[in-house]
Amino acid sequence: MSYDYDVIIIGSGPAGFSCAIQSSKFGKRVLIVEANPENLGGSWINTGTVPSKSLREAAKLIQKFHTQFADQEKMKPYQRFKMSDILRYKQSILSEKNRKVKNDLIKHNIETARGRGKLLDGHTVEVTLEGGRTITYTAGFVMISTGSRPGKPEQFEVDHHVVVDYRSILELTHIPRRLVIVGGGVIALEFATIFAALGTRITILSAEKGFLPFLDEEVSGELHKILRKKTIQLTTECSIERVEKNDFRTSMEVFYRTASEPGRLQVVETDHVLHVGHKMPNSEGLGLAEIGVGLSDRNTIEVDEAFRTAVPSVFAAGDVIGFPSQASASFVQGRIAACAMFGMGEDEIAANVPYGIYSIPEIAGIGLTEADARRQGVHYKVGKISYSNLTQADIGHVDDGMLKMIFDADTLRILGVHIIGEQASDLIHLGQCVMQHGGTIEYFLKNVLNYPSYGEAYRMAAFDGLTEPVAE
Ligand SMILES: Cc1cc2nc3c(=O)[nH]c(=O)nc-3n(C[C@H](O)[C@H](O)[C@H](O)COP(=O)(O)OP(=O)(O)OC[C@H]3O[C@@H](n4cnc5c(N)ncnc54)[C@H](O)[C@@H]3O)c2cc1C
Repeated sequence: MSYDYDVIIIGSGPAGFSCAIQSSKFGKRVLIVEANPENLGGSWINTGTVPSKSLREAAKLIQKFHTQFADQEKMKPYQRFKMSDILRYKQSILSEKNRKVKNDLIKHNIETARGRGKLLDGHTVEVTLEGGRTITYTAGFVMISTGSRPGKPEQFEVDHHVVVDYRSILELTHIPRRLVIVGGGVIALEFATIFAALGTRITILSAEKGFLPFLDEEVSGELHKILRKKTIQLTTECSIERVEKNDFRTSMEVFYRTASEPGRLQVVETDHVLHVGHKMPNSEGLGLAEIGVGLSDRNTIEVDEAFRTAVPSVFAAGDVIGFPSQASASFVQGRIAACAMFGMGEDEIAANVPYGIYSIPEIAGIGLTEADARRQGVHYKVGKISYSNLTQADIGHVDDGMLKMIFDADTLRILGVHIIGEQASDLIHLGQCVMQHGGTIEYFLKNVLNYPSYGEAYRMAAFDGLTEPVAE
């Protein structure tokens, strides 16, 4: 049977984009269907990763300038810097990124159709254009990479003006004096530290028992110290009762209770509320159930290790399949799916995946935490170093941060690396590389590392590890 294309990809975020580029490199005919009439690139470029990281970059620059060169006692950053400048900075990056993505697709002869895609069967996609007209395309394979959207709160409305979600906060036109973040997790921490760097007073109200419980315990301890220093108020095990406008004080009020004092209704006053809810997969309206694609009870699409759904010609990747819901993983998943479609190699993702949290400062980790090692009864040792021992940190006036390695006490093989501090999201890759190749901490003692650098933390942590007693 002949088809219009070899693969049709619904959604142009990182999963769809990398599937498209890899398929095109295999010489395949590719069509991307994208519902956003203006931009390609999905939440990766337009409403998630790149805009939030651009905002963060601007906030980091401002914080550095403000704390090192300005008279920080006299002025807050929001008195010195304007949100309009920060938004312009962000917009210039988004425009450039959008241009590059479009050019990449053109360069690889990838066609695009602007409209909402829906599967009619395992090889046929109906695209509804903006005016309502439909066009039908066929392909040997279909990739669903439709991403996710912010979940809505039950207790209050998000008006995207005063009460925002993790997308609409990126459009705020001024730096708020006060911000209450309802929700925990990585996105909450990122926005908390971004706005704290701009001078905003931050309160986080999280329903979870612990804050980022997957972090290594010492990294978590360092994080809490940094949050206190930034006067970010963090309350866990909170249940929100309601959010109301106080017209007399032209402010918002968030009413909540805590697990420790359930009988006391507490209130915090704020200018804006950011709701950070769970991500909802965009799996509706695609005709999935009708053609036999399986969904989990959270509406994520079920796939095998090659990202194939229950319908052999239909693949899915990215946020729509759920955890880890990161652009980093989506890029790899999209490429592996393309390899599986066209029988090009039996690629699979390595079991150890690093995480990067783009707070200020950054946090990154891979492999076992100390608690994991204890739980698993591993005979391990720890090597760690505080950034305050690094010359590069001294030069940058950086006081906070630490790097910690967990390694096997007998073989010295690295089992986990955990970093909080400047450049953590880049630094982790050095530890990841040595670890994934079965390396030992001796790597960092036998090899010369540049000085001064943050990477030097590995040498000092390895040295510390060799002189530390075995953990019980
Ligand atoms: C604030 C924020 C910060 C983040 N920071 C990071 C980070 O630092 N690092 C990281 O790795 N990840 C980060 N992420 C996560 C990352 O953005 C997502 O994991 C990633 O974009 C998901 O990629 P995707 O390909 O699954 O879908 P998306 O990027 O969401 O793209 C999906 C596309 O599909 C389109 N679409 C949906 N339905 C249809 C349909 N029926 N027909 C046609 N098109 C359709 C949408 O319009 C959209 O363009 C962040 C997310 C947020 C919200």
